[in-house]
Amino acid sequence: MPLCCGALPGELVIKAVGYAINKKGRKLKPFRFKRRNVGPNDVLVNVLYCGICHSDIHKVRNEWKNTIYPMVPGHEIVGRVISTGKAVRRLKVGDIVGIGCMVGSCGKCDMCMAGQEQFCEKGAVMTYNSKDPMGGGGHTYGGYSNNMIADERFVLKLSPMSDLAAVAPLMCAGITTYSPLKRWRAGPGKRVGIVGLGGLGHMAVKLAHSMGAHVTVFTTSKGKIKDAKRLGANDVVLSDNKKLMESRKGSIDLIIDTVSAMHDVDAFISLLAPNGTIVLLGLPENSYEHPYQIKPGSLIFGNRSVSGSNIGGIRETQEMLDYCAKHKIVPDIELIPIQKVNEAFDRAVRSDVKYRFVIDMSSLSA
Ligand code: NAP
Ligand code: ZN
Ligand code: ZN
Repeated sequence: MPLCCGALPGELVIKAVGYAINKKGRKLKPFRFKRRNVGPNDVLVNVLYCGICHSDIHKVRNEWKNTIYPMVPGHEIVGRVISTGKAVRRLKVGDIVGIGCMVGSCGKCDMCMAGQEQFCEKGAVMTYNSKDPMGGGGHTYGGYSNNMIADERFVLKLSPMSDLAAVAPLMCAGITTYSPLKRWRAGPGKRVGIVGLGGLGHMAVKLAHSMGAHVTVFTTSKGKIKDAKRLGANDVVLSDNKKLMESRKGSIDLIIDTVSAMHDVDAFISLLAPNGTIVLLGLPENSYEHPYQIKPGSLIFGNRSVSGSNIGGIRETQEMLDYCAKHKIVPDIELIPIQKVNEAFDRAVRSDVKYRFVIDMSSLSA
């Protein structure tokens, strides 16, 4: 156990090594730091794999204007438990587990009790770049690292049979798309549109298809048309082709919009059938400041709705993991060593990934 003799819970004593960014505009590079000691409810994990979410890229590049440097990204984590606090009952050393976007919350407020820890009234502790009330007032560091610590409530047990590298992106891309598909009842008879075929988008296609929905993919990438069909799409539309977009007007009940850049959301609202809903998942650069333009008539003439959805709570994440295990759904991944992380970021921004990069953390020691 990498604990210091006599150290108190919360003291920064656990040695960690990962990849961090020190300043906007720089590259991610090796970084040594310390994590808090294992408290009674904590679980310490040796990270095996970590997915690269576009949110990691937005955050590293300070595109949301709230990055605290230095930062270690990574919230699609699979690892092995190496130590547990004395009150931990559900997990033991050796268990294979997943950790997603959160590592703590108050556990007592209405939102936590309702299983929506992401909206904890005291503020959920996010996996990285979040104030860590348990860690001496510092901030959290993510999973591009050899180890990770989290409150046991946020550590999910995985089946040891799984393809572990491919399971990692379920911890964000999986739950973020599963949650709105369930909430808006994707299923037989429902026409679901997925905008953007990236990490989130390709999971949304697999999940919506498995739920029995009719799936249309809207992509800007010609080179993804064949894949979209293989992943489960019944129809694929090149979204920058006005004529094709026109031909699908009023034909979709639920749109899951995963685009990572500012785009014409109004054009997608016009594709909704009466009473249809578009759910925004993407948080492009400057999206905290810059609004999308939506014509009131686009919503009024058809009783259409615009909504958003933020990851998913822990109960629902477990439900999603069970669902994916039952239906044998895992993301399509490209496994990379950590030394290629900066290149992978650039490729992801160019939409050049099929469909999620996952870092093999054993490469850290190379
Ligand atoms: P990703 O893998 O990079 O996929 C984004 C896709 O958007 C691209 O593959 C591309 O699809 C499309 N796209 C990119 N630039 C575009 C442009 N200029 N115009 C039109 N389409 C464009 O990203 P991701 O990891 O899936 O994340 C997507 C977004 O969701 C990010 O903003 C991320 O921060 C956010 N996110 C939100 C939550 C949440 O809880 N709401 C959780 C995780 C991530 P095509 O090539 O098919 O056009
Ligand atoms: Zn994410
Ligand atoms: Zn709470």
